[in-house]
Amino acid sequence: MTYVAEAKRYDSMIYRRTGRSGLKLPAISLGLWHNFGHERPWDRQRDIVRRAFDLGVTHFDLANNYGPPPGAAEENFGRMLATDLKPYRDELVIATKAGYDMWPGPYGEWGSRKYLTASLDQSLRRMGLDYVDVFYSHRFDPDTPLEETMGALDAAVRAGKALYVGISSYTAAQTREAAAILKSLGTPLLIHQPSYSMINRWTERDQLLDTLEEVGAGCISFSPLAQGLLTDRYLQGVPEDSRIRTSHFLNEDALTPSNRVKVEGLNEIARRRGQSLAQLALAWALRDERMTSLVIGASSVGQLENNIAALGNLDFTAEELTEIDQFATE
Ligand code: NDP
Repeated sequence: MTYVAEAKRYDSMIYRRTGRSGLKLPAISLGLWHNFGHERPWDRQRDIVRRAFDLGVTHFDLANNYGPPPGAAEENFGRMLATDLKPYRDELVIATKAGYDMWPGPYGEWGSRKYLTASLDQSLRRMGLDYVDVFYSHRFDPDTPLEETMGALDAAVRAGKALYVGISSYTAAQTREAAAILKSLGTPLLIHQPSYSMINRWTERDQLLDTLEEVGAGCISFSPLAQGLLTDRYLQGVPEDSRIRTSHFLNEDALTPSNRVKVEGLNEIARRRGQSLAQLALAWALRDERMTSLVIGASSVGQLENNIAALGNLDFTAEELTEIDQFATE
């Protein structure tokens, strides 16, 4: 059936400004790392993306290597654009990245201009797009001059292939340097994408949000549900269709006794607040207004809806935050 977007799609989503840029992002964005490869039923993928857009999720986060196989998520998203979302292109913020292993040989990963430029061209072809809204350096490359990596991002903007640029998983010190180079080139750093969750708080130790505020960039954290650990997914065992069973990026070793204690403690706090554990984890990760957005994953429409409903209660008392800190540890 022809897709027509929900008329009320902008009624309840919260949009936050990305650093000191002109761009606003939904507080919850959808990532296509898992659940959008060729092994997943097409109808389910399409239903998740349609529902997301209908709920005001304007931002979709991809990378060259998302699949499986690598490239498949961009192909599938391109198909959805062609069938459903093309009429809404100007309402969408589509991001892609390059940095991890994508093709054989010395030019298929890391941060050279050669790799980043070729990879972005491939991503655009897979998605059937003229440009992406955000192009990221997916990881810091210790062996390539940062001037070259940032120069490639700037060149992508000048070539009209990207509107904004971002970096992912750079430390605060690397971020400061990258932002200064980009500024000197005339293409400001829009956003940083680090990992962050109740059980992964490296960005706090690194004072990344302070650094981003200093340079005027936004922050969009990935895996805020710790790939599903901070949900009710594993409270009663390991379901056959869960990420632990279907992906090698998460395994049963993560279900340590100490993690179980944390998850059960947090689940109890969530219950008292009338939230699911996932909703608590998302509301908590958004408690600092400088957190522009969270990029979540969802393997079903139900999960997506549950997660977006977290935005209904983002307030915490000081007592709740103190109690959460007893369990929200690494
Ligand atoms: P999450 O921490 O949000 O984990 C998503 C998984 O949690 C889902 O696939 C599902 O697992 C489970 N889940 C989600 N919602 C619920 C719910 N309400 N109830 C129960 N279970 C739930 O994020 P991801 O790890 O998927 O990462 C999100 C995005 O971040 C990626 O798609 C990607 O765009 C980006 N990312 C970026 C990286 C980078 O280097 N820049 C690295 C990693 C991710 P299940 O499949 O078991 O149902």
